[in-house]
Amino acid sequence: MSRFLSRQYENLEPYTPGEQPKSISRLIKLNTNENPYPPCPGVLEVINDEELNKLKLYSDPEASQLVEVIAEFNGLDKSQVMVGNGSDEILAFAFMAFRNEGNKIFYPEISYSFYPVYCDIFNASGVKVPLDKNFKVVPEDYYNADGTIVITNPNAPTGIALTREEIREILQHNKDNLVIIDEAYVDFGGESAVPLIDEYDNLLVIQTFSKSRSLAGARIGMAMGASEIIEDLNRIKFSFNPYNLNRLSILAGTEAIKDRDYFEKTTALIADTRDSFVKEMKMLGFKVLPSKANFVFAASEEISGEEYFKALRNAGIIVRYFKKPLIENFVRITVGTPEEMKELVNETRKIMQAIR
Ligand code: PMP
Repeated sequence: MSRFLSRQYENLEPYTPGEQPKSISRLIKLNTNENPYPPCPGVLEVINDEELNKLKLYSDPEASQLVEVIAEFNGLDKSQVMVGNGSDEILAFAFMAFRNEGNKIFYPEISYSFYPVYCDIFNASGVKVPLDKNFKVVPEDYYNADGTIVITNPNAPTGIALTREEIREILQHNKDNLVIIDEAYVDFGGESAVPLIDEYDNLLVIQTFSKSRSLAGARIGMAMGASEIIEDLNRIKFSFNPYNLNRLSILAGTEAIKDRDYFEKTTALIADTRDSFVKEMKMLGFKVLPSKANFVFAASEEISGEEYFKALRNAGIIVRYFKKPLIENFVRITVGTPEEMKELVNETRKIMQAIR
């Protein structure tokens, strides 16, 4: 730490991203919930020499073409949509923008570990709401909250989803609080809250292109909600980084939204791979939480989460392990291709045989 750092940030504990190995050729990488399939073919075509030449020019600060296709895809007006440099950036804008007088932000005790970091950096008081004994978010615990609410749905790292009706009840019981639903993983089997946007002006839905549209490296996120909320987010964005999306990402994102067929096929394939993989893991004696996401959260009574994580790492398979109370027996496994999952199951069988 230099002597120049503001006092305010002396104790800031940054978010720890999952490992991004320099070379993945000999590793099976199932640790950061990326999509195992490439971006849709249109993405590869649209990034050509002509567009690369245009990098000398700034990008469209409104990212209009991308915003328009997102609005159309979701049956919204373009005033109800904005885009960010990953949904992480949009979440940051939202934590910056939306706090009531008490400054409180409610989120599930086990959830995306970036939320407490945003609370710290933007001076909000994070209130952690416990899950039930089955690791489920309890909707009633958020009724009449005294602050902003942020819920990941399906939740991460559990993968467990609330229904749209459960989200509706949370909105209904919080008419004067903003409810942010982080739908990073919704396209693999969850119910999106987007159809509730026209009914509830206290709803902000945040999604990402990083998972279901195979564009994690392009860094694109989207926010959808009442036009007044989107206007507020744009107020922050234009005060912070107006050209937050680069030219190539705007093009890539537009193509990815337009190819509905590819999106539907690849997300369905991942959901199928997940369901077969869960059955295999259960046969090996693992407890697997019911996931609607592109990852599963699994634990065994025979091996600790940390040991299992290390044993897989030694076999060239990276998954994610969180050394945290309540979840330290689990590992989070991204759903890759059927071949990758088969390899993981085979390695797991060997690991379990060796300790039995
Ligand atoms: N929300 C959740 C719950 C996530 O797991 C992630 C991915 N780490 C994000 C948001 C951010 O995704 P991105 O910035 O890639 O859009």
